[in-house]
Amino acid sequence: MGMGANIVLGAIADDFTGATDLANNLVRGGMRCLQVIGVPQQEVDLTDIDAVIVALKSRSCPVDEAVADSLAALEWLRQQGARQLFFKYCSTFDSTDQGNIGPVADALLEALGAHQTVMVPAFPINGRTVYQGHLFVGDRLLNDSGMQHHPLNPMQDADLVRVLSRQTPHPVGLANRAVLVQGAEATCAHLTMLADQGVRHVICDSLDEQDLEILAEATVSLPLVTGGSGLGQALPAQYRAQGWLGTISEPGRLSPASGGALVLSGSCSRATLAQVADFLAQHPDGGFALDPLALTEGGQQQEQALAFARKRLSQETPVLLYASADTEKVNAAQQALGVAHAGALVEEALSQLAVKLVEEGVGRLLVAGGETSGAVVSALGITTLRIGEQIDPGVPWTQTLITGRDVPLSLALKSGNFGGVDFFTRAFEVLE
Ligand code: ADP
Repeated sequence: MGMGANIVLGAIADDFTGATDLANNLVRGGMRCLQVIGVPQQEVDLTDIDAVIVALKSRSCPVDEAVADSLAALEWLRQQGARQLFFKYCSTFDSTDQGNIGPVADALLEALGAHQTVMVPAFPINGRTVYQGHLFVGDRLLNDSGMQHHPLNPMQDADLVRVLSRQTPHPVGLANRAVLVQGAEATCAHLTMLADQGVRHVICDSLDEQDLEILAEATVSLPLVTGGSGLGQALPAQYRAQGWLGTISEPGRLSPASGGALVLSGSCSRATLAQVADFLAQHPDGGFALDPLALTEGGQQQEQALAFARKRLSQETPVLLYASADTEKVNAAQQALGVAHAGALVEEALSQLAVKLVEEGVGRLLVAGGETSGAVVSALGITTLRIGEQIDPGVPWTQTLITGRDVPLSLALKSGNFGGVDFFTRAFEVLE
């Protein structure tokens, strides 16, 4: 067991931002959460933590790797004493006929000696619902939602019973809305009936928060549940009802934030471009643009960015360093340098700037871009994140201890399309 551990929920998330999204919902439900990046190699302090979320990169990697990493995470979470386990994947059930949802769920069930789990991808407030086992994104079936064109895992079938049946040798069942509306006890009886028939995986309908509450109640004694982050918000109430979890008044409370305010943006998603423009409108001299083509010419542009940031920070004003650019500029850079090289140059430059500026006193850091966040977090050597207040849906402030800083670093990691237009300015107001 880790130091001071009283872990109620242990989650295994198949990607980084998905882990944060789940943690954010658990905090909102009333649990104190720690996100760990990969399976910890050292002892982790779990004092005053109710839920731990292990962030893996197992969504699109080879099946064997996803299974091995998930089992390692499970083993670690069991050592911490987690009472219930949660396998978190995307609310659009991102997977292929090879996996990784089915094979990982099968491996986890086997390792736990469990006979059955539920699959609850729905996230109703984000428009992801499941009816008669069919996944909808807004008013479209999954295979008509744009997800059918996803570069890594095109989702061409909305019937999740059928989708999952291609990923597991075991029978897949359904708990539909007609069952849920009869309440948690009836749902539980339905699951037991299916288990008696040898059904290991049960796809669950859910149209709204109430369905998720019923499912959380019906499954609280299962060793393993699986799903999207929507279910996460319904779980804490059930843990309290079981007496596993106390009432925590401010589960997202962090230490006071201090130090300079820096935004690093490597995301070129539409929402981020609007956030960059909004920041520049509010702070006309507050931003410095990095250009991958200039970054190839030695370290000069990076030095300029650094000097720019130091000046702003010495005046105690927030600063934005960004490579975010419209499609035309991105295409031009990608044509000249290659997609991977252009991306790597930007990620490397932003990571180095993060390391230097944090060393020099930045204490409130906001990073835009999923890949960019991954690069910055790893350059800073961050392995754990305490989850704080939500800034916008899916994006909380977090805090972490890093070597060389005696107070925690406040960090917000925003993937592409998250956040309102004033995110880069409002985020810092939330901290005050
Ligand atoms: P998002 O979450 O919006 O997808 P990511 O950080 O995951 O953002 O991905 C954006 C990618 O684009 C990163 O690899 C980043 O380095 C790269 N990139 C950022 N700016 C540029 C640019 N001006 N030209 C080419 N590539 C860029």
